Amino acid sequence: MPYGYTGNILHVNLTNKKYWIENPPESFYRTYWGGRAIGLYYMLKQMRSKTDPLSPGNLLIFAPSVITGTPAPAIPRYTVCAKSPLTEAQGEAEAGGWWGPELKKAGFDAIVIKGSSTTPVYLWIKDGRVEIKDATHLWGKDTGTAQEIIRKELADDKIRIAQIGRAGENLVRFANIVNELKHFNGRNGLGAVMGSKKLKAVAVRGTKPLKIYNQEKIKEITKQISQRIMDNPLSRDLQELGTPAVIRPFYEAGCLPSYNWTTGYFEEGENLTAETLNKTILKKTVGCYACPIRCKRVAEVNESDIKVDPRYGGPEYETITSLGSICGISDLKYIAKANELCNKYTMDTISTGMTIAFAMQCYQVGLLTKQDTGGIEITFGNKEAMLKMVEKIAHREFGLGALLAHGSYIAAQRIGKGATNFIHQVKGQEIPMHDPRVKTGVGLQYALADYGADHMKAPHDPFFKDQDSVGIKEMKGLGILEPVSPTDLSKKKVALFKLMDIYWSLFDLLGVCDFGYVPRSVGTMDELLEIIRSATGWRTSWLELMKVGERSINMARIFNYREGFTPKDDTLPEVFFNNFQGGPLDGQGAINKKDFKKALKLRYELMSWDADTGIPTPAKLIELGLDWLIKELK
Ligand code: SF4
Repeated sequence: MPYGYTGNILHVNLTNKKYWIENPPESFYRTYWGGRAIGLYYMLKQMRSKTDPLSPGNLLIFAPSVITGTPAPAIPRYTVCAKSPLTEAQGEAEAGGWWGPELKKAGFDAIVIKGSSTTPVYLWIKDGRVEIKDATHLWGKDTGTAQEIIRKELADDKIRIAQIGRAGENLVRFANIVNELKHFNGRNGLGAVMGSKKLKAVAVRGTKPLKIYNQEKIKEITKQISQRIMDNPLSRDLQELGTPAVIRPFYEAGCLPSYNWTTGYFEEGENLTAETLNKTILKKTVGCYACPIRCKRVAEVNESDIKVDPRYGGPEYETITSLGSICGISDLKYIAKANELCNKYTMDTISTGMTIAFAMQCYQVGLLTKQDTGGIEITFGNKEAMLKMVEKIAHREFGLGALLAHGSYIAAQRIGKGATNFIHQVKGQEIPMHDPRVKTGVGLQYALADYGADHMKAPHDPFFKDQDSVGIKEMKGLGILEPVSPTDLSKKKVALFKLMDIYWSLFDLLGVCDFGYVPRSVGTMDELLEIIRSATGWRTSWLELMKVGERSINMARIFNYREGFTPKDDTLPEVFFNNFQGGPLDGQGAINKKDFKKALKLRYELMSWDADTGIPTPAKLIELGLDWLIKELK
């Protein structure tokens, strides 16, 4: 068994309640490494194409990585993979927190779950022992209550629990999975897959230390990085202001997504800033396993008309915008309340906010009426209505709640009458809160992301904007030598984001937090490589690692091709091909559609995919050791 791994992959069949343990050879680990690559390996090998995502045939895979669970900073993440009920494409979401490291200590490198139980169950894994336990008494319970009950009945308050709330149980298509009540596998509706399998939770506890090749070296690097964290403005800002730090520059520049993307100008932006949050609702900051940055916000509100429970954390940038300015709402207390509800019921806050904003715009133009909304005035800025809609969606209440639980894409098709003009999505997933008109590389990634628009598919353009940018100063080892303007869509930008897609996919499959290492923070590429070498004992290189990232992208591409996705699905919402309306950027910014199409085509070519069909070539698959996938091209 290679260092860094446990050598065990747990397979569970929830239909017959049986499980078995696979011990893959070292060559398997050195090819797929962890996270999304391991998930995709099983999805491509064991899942039939066109499987209904909510049927027993879908697989649900939990996979940390070889360096998850080491003492190295900012590497707490693990991936959940399944076919997504929101996009019907490859589904994937990474979460930080504590669950991934605990699974490794409990003796497993991954869990592959298939089948469905007829009654609610939860998995209990401790130090290599596995039990499928009854969860009837937990079904319908909020995540906070369920966590308390599980820890009490297993008599251990250090158990780490990944679980779903009511939205997952009710198969809301953008339900997510949470660990420790505030760390999310957010996008793609993977919580609904868990709900369809009647799997309420996976509780893990491990007391065995990981076998690491050179623990002392990792400790030495950890010390070096930790010392720099307090002095470096990038990590200090993350600690002091968290992700909401970007609200001020965005609203001042006029690119804060607002009113369902009809404008980037939000007059009341000051009410949403990180500084306002710190002054009003911030209780404390917390972090993830072995991470000294502690960037996560915890909010508390204790007023007569509104209370926010700090157990469920606090709103990040994406949440403040999607449940705030996108819905025309500027009251942080209500946004924090909506965040608490989404967390308690396990719903992705981006898709929730975007779906409610879509309904608000439909209501504004008369496509939805009071009769449809059960008497609620769902107008932009109506914060009480927003909270009511969150409840209705999570409980899939008959009428509008049940309709919006499908997400904005399906809801718009069902409403008809031009409602599709008010959705903003890629591959059926609502777009996140970063405007591609000011970050064209992010736009390319939205269009190309295997699992639908996502802002975590590459570092963002400003990290490469001038000679002083971290991406330019610290990433020369990848051949990144010259800056590119954030709004540029030249060949240079396309080539840069091809590299960044691969680099970020590697982060995802290694469980590395994007906020821990360059270009987003202080850990260097050399330090990360040394952490990997010290964990595994493998004399690996960036050449080998970048191939691993590229392998995972090609596996995802083949999975989606099998499901019927084509270049038509690699696109951006129409709004970004138009100029900004209102505010400092009024009348500017439209992305040129022809240029964007040319950029996509070049990107296919740079990936060695067919320039017209976007399908990986057999030669590329052979180069990546994926020749077993060539048969899927027919
Ligand atoms: S930087 Fe923040 S999100 Fe990333 S591991 Fe540290 S605490 Fe978690």
